[in-house]
Amino acid sequence: MLIGVDVGGTNLRVGVVQEKRVIAEQRVHADFSRLCHDNPPEISLAAIHATLLQALRNALKEHPETRGIGIGFPGFVQPATGHIPHSPNLPGLRDIDLATPLREALGLPVIVANDANAAAYAEFLLSGQEGGLIYLGLGTGVGGGLIHHGKIVQGDHGMAMEIGHLIVEPDGRECGCGNRGCMERYASASGVTLNYASATGETLDAQEIAQRARSGDTHAQAAYAQAGERLAQALAHILKVTDASRVIIGGGMSKAWPLMRETFERRLNADLIPALRGRVEISLSALNDQAGIIGAALLAGVCDD
Ligand SMILES: [Zn+2]
Repeated sequence: MLIGVDVGGTNLRVGVVQEKRVIAEQRVHADFSRLCHDNPPEISLAAIHATLLQALRNALKEHPETRGIGIGFPGFVQPATGHIPHSPNLPGLRDIDLATPLREALGLPVIVANDANAAAYAEFLLSGQEGGLIYLGLGTGVGGGLIHHGKIVQGDHGMAMEIGHLIVEPDGRECGCGNRGCMERYASASGVTLNYASATGETLDAQEIAQRARSGDTHAQAAYAQAGERLAQALAHILKVTDASRVIIGGGMSKAWPLMRETFERRLNADLIPALRGRVEISLSALNDQAGIIGAALLAGVCDD
């Protein structure tokens, strides 16, 4: 039995994983983005540690037979050390070590992985299929993971497959990574908020914009259509580099996929190398937004073996 944690921009989900399935899940409201925005880094980091420790202690009380913990984190994660040099959605934090204090406090192996890499790993293992797989996680930001020859492609600095930071609009919107015009500033939940605000002057969260889009608000529909288009623009580049044959889309915002699908498909088809058109399988995750939890837990299991 393993525990997987999916750290999101606004909440934290802790799942107990057995036989590649989540058998218990707990959600804790934790707005780490806001916390980091409003506090000096040492205060935010102490609060993040305390929140994680409390959530893990609660889960371990129920499942003391747990033998390892994997944490999927939205940021660049150094493959060798598990240190997080920088997370665009958690401003101010630099070179943090989440695992060591938790390992010492809980007396269990703890690993940290990039959240989208963890999700990609779960999607790959559970699909039972070979071949290249790209996972796109649509949430507060847009994460990307690539499985090539059965392995996660992490890069030398843990920054491979940062698809959300491909620049789709030169000199465009400012991004937490330090650049401008990154895809996730248009195609994530926060991007949809900005798309809508730039047309209407009204700042709403992405879920509310989705509701308005479904009730016929054309600006809300356009905000999602723009997200779909930007996502496809970046994905076409990635597919030209990786030639993966499967793409799985997950994350909380994938629930609004029907609002993005048409522009996504049109742009992807237009931008792909013609010989690749129609040969890439695009699907929504069937793991009920639990891919990140399962993947983080399974990665902890691999390290423990
Ligand atoms: Zn960026």
